[in-house]
Amino acid sequence: MQVESSPARPWLLTRWAVWSLPSRVLTSLLLVEITALGLFALDVLHWPFTRSALFATLMLSVLGVVHTEIAVGLERLRRRVTDTPHVDLSSVWTFAGAVLLPPALATIVVLVIFAHQWFRVWRSVEVPGYRHVFSTATVVLACHAAAAVLNYAGSQGLSSLGGPRELITMALAVLAYGTVNTGLVAAAIALSTSTPRPSPAQLLGHWDDNMLELGTLCLGALAALALASNPWQMPLVMAPLLVLHRAVLVRQLEEAASTDSKTGLLNAAAWHSEAARELRRAQRGRTSVAVLILDLDHFKSVNDDHGHLAGDEVLSAVATALRGEVREHDLVGRFGGEEFVVLLPELGGSSDGGIELHAIAERIRHRVSTLSVAVATPGGSLTIAGLSVSVGGAVYPDHGHGIDHVLAAADSALYAAKRDGRNAVRIAELSEMPRQRSSGRR
Ligand code: GH3
Ligand code: MG
Ligand code: MG
Repeated sequence: MQVESSPARPWLLTRWAVWSLPSRVLTSLLLVEITALGLFALDVLHWPFTRSALFATLMLSVLGVVHTEIAVGLERLRRRVTDTPHVDLSSVWTFAGAVLLPPALATIVVLVIFAHQWFRVWRSVEVPGYRHVFSTATVVLACHAAAAVLNYAGSQGLSSLGGPRELITMALAVLAYGTVNTGLVAAAIALSTSTPRPSPAQLLGHWDDNMLELGTLCLGALAALALASNPWQMPLVMAPLLVLHRAVLVRQLEEAASTDSKTGLLNAAAWHSEAARELRRAQRGRTSVAVLILDLDHFKSVNDDHGHLAGDEVLSAVATALRGEVREHDLVGRFGGEEFVVLLPELGGSSDGGIELHAIAERIRHRVSTLSVAVATPGGSLTIAGLSVSVGGAVYPDHGHGIDHVLAAADSALYAAKRDGRNAVRIAELSEMPRQRSSGRR
């Protein structure tokens, strides 16, 4: 374990950030790490190893280190535009080690690659040392799980990888490696998160990331085959690996380019193009699509009274509230300034759609009016409440046949809500809906 808050004095054991973790998190981290260390100690008893195993260990370690060095360059390019975490495809080498080497040597490959990564990548982005040590331990355990599957199936090294049975064995080893690694990380996140019920994506990562890990492990299996048959062909694995890495960077850049950094919602351009696509889908399926435009009332006075940073906190809290009031697949975007926009596909039939839309908009309006946003300012912390929002809505196909027409109808309805005193909901051509108001900011 290394220091987080005082990298200049890592020898001061009492200052390690790990001690500030809740005791149940600390206990589970230590349990995983002690298990990994214990297994390694037992593995070492099987020393000495053959010359070819030692050569394969050296080869995998060197290629892992070279891969990290090349990846650091690629990552630097990405970090200029986005802050998302460093991509780590090192499991290609660690999994190949698990398949090919006795567990003690596979663990040495993991330790070399992860120690090098710590000094070249994670230390400089201020990742707490205890987290990296935990990741290292989970990978060591994942290698043992994969090796156990191969042993159980009686795989005699890679010379026996010749038939469908061996293919199934290898697939099970991939599964064991991925399950142990992801499972332990998910358990640590579940124990340390403050969210009462974290979503599967928070615990297990996104679908894309898991597919990437699977692809990397398959490449690891191929790397093991190459190493067993002709070690000098191993560097050939590097090219597809780097192409994979670049593809990940492109996806991350795309994500960053379509996200509003202040609120995490879609930005205006991304929302517009996704909304247009949804509308075309509705046209083909002859279904309806609804749009809401929301504008915070008198937002300028929040900035004037408490400063722009406090205003930003309010925007972020409103975005979270908005996301919480609509369905997972509804498109929520920030249109600019203090304006938000939501697209809700398939809200029911034509006239029902308008009524349901009004109910959803009313729910959002009410939620914003009850928001309390805690903001830390130089003068101490304060709570901003009494916010309000005006909402305009329109439905395709009732109020227009293209996304811009529907947006224009929703925008007119929004201005009707503003004209009528703010903190109100108006749906295009349903302006006679009873107006519900609460005592908000004026
Ligand atoms: P109305 O009820 O008529 O909508 O009044 P308003 O004050 O909300 O609207 P106005 O258009 O007069 O002012 C919008 C304010 O939003 C002005 C601008 O400073 C603020 N704003 C726009 N973008 C941001 C941002 O990213 N952060 C912060 N803090 N404020 C922003
Ligand atoms: Mg505005
Ligand atoms: Mg406004």
